[in-house]
Amino acid sequence: MPASLPYPVSVEPGSLPKLGKFAGEFAPAHKYAIITDTNVGPLYGKAAAGALGIDQSDVLVIPAGESSKSRGTWGWATDELITRGFGRDSALIALGGGVVLDLAGFVAATYMRGLPIIHVPTTLLGMIDASIGGKTGVDTHFGKNLVGAFHQPSGVLIDPQLLETLALSELRTGFAEALKHGVIASRSYFDSVVSAIPGVLYGGAESGDSLTGIIVGSIEIKSGIVGRDERESGLRKILNFGHTIAHAVEMLSDYTVAHGEAVAIGMTIESRIAERSGIAVRGTAAEIRKAVLAAGLPVTLPDGIDSGRIIEVMRSDKKARAGSVHYALPRSIGEMAGAESGWSVAVDDSIVSEVLA
Ligand code: NAD
Repeated sequence: MPASLPYPVSVEPGSLPKLGKFAGEFAPAHKYAIITDTNVGPLYGKAAAGALGIDQSDVLVIPAGESSKSRGTWGWATDELITRGFGRDSALIALGGGVVLDLAGFVAATYMRGLPIIHVPTTLLGMIDASIGGKTGVDTHFGKNLVGAFHQPSGVLIDPQLLETLALSELRTGFAEALKHGVIASRSYFDSVVSAIPGVLYGGAESGDSLTGIIVGSIEIKSGIVGRDERESGLRKILNFGHTIAHAVEMLSDYTVAHGEAVAIGMTIESRIAERSGIAVRGTAAEIRKAVLAAGLPVTLPDGIDSGRIIEVMRSDKKARAGSVHYALPRSIGEMAGAESGWSVAVDDSIVSEVLA
């Protein structure tokens, strides 16, 4: 799976030990380096290195957290690869959450003009979103993801059992992107995510199966979209639902608000903007807010973040064009607006200010 992508995505509980075979088949290389972080490395670095038959010294460990998505860490990692003798006949393995995937992906896109990379996501958000679609990059103090490249992985190996060590708060942030996939593409998937939330978050014998089902469902949706619009010239913009506000919240909070939490806030506010602009069917925003709350995610701007600053930051975001901020907005759950305008809609700042207030 899935047919719409030019690379394989394997979803199989307990499959980490198969990483060597997977990498050998889809990214054959003379030498492999694993890039991971300080939380994931101690948990799974040894097993991943063992599966690849490589030495621990070929595991590069970056500090956990969004601050590692930086040009500084990119510089450190590329220097390390040079020092450790990795050449054009090498391949990278990204083992971690979205931060590791984005950073390692950018290293792979740029090191020696591009190396193959296998993604091994270890967060729910990484499994259902960041590992698919080839967006890589780092943040700058001007904003999020402002320096980056499209670089598709050679394969994605997903072992849902790795989520057993993930903190509940991180599992919740994955649900933000799962709900987003439902809103932008499928009412039935949205309903299935909402009904899986209590079991997955609060225990239950079948929660592992539900999680695997959510992962597979989200990947089908995301790959169907990026498979049709790899470079975000149109349809792929619908994946930005919630993200215009989310990126501003992340930046203004100095990245203390996690990406998935910011997306939860962004979806709640942007769906109200959609209703207030007469784009979304009445009741859409309330239903999204209810689902976000059920996942234990925030729905309002954090204290200390001023709505005026949010608008200012959004104006400097990649999604701002010719003086007006563009949003990916839902018409209803399962259907996005803006097909006729390239899947993004310009909204007057006065409406946004009103909703933010
Ligand atoms: P993250 O990578 O920071 O991981 C969250 C925390 O969980 C970290 O502390 C990490 O060390 C820890 N962790 C990861 N896996 C673990 C495990 N199995 N057990 C225990 N701890 C574990 O955050 P995230 O939410 O995965 O990713 C957020 C990032 O992803 C953001 O930078 C966002 O911009 C990016 N993103 C990218 C895309 C894309 O298409 N490229 C899509 C969505 C999000």
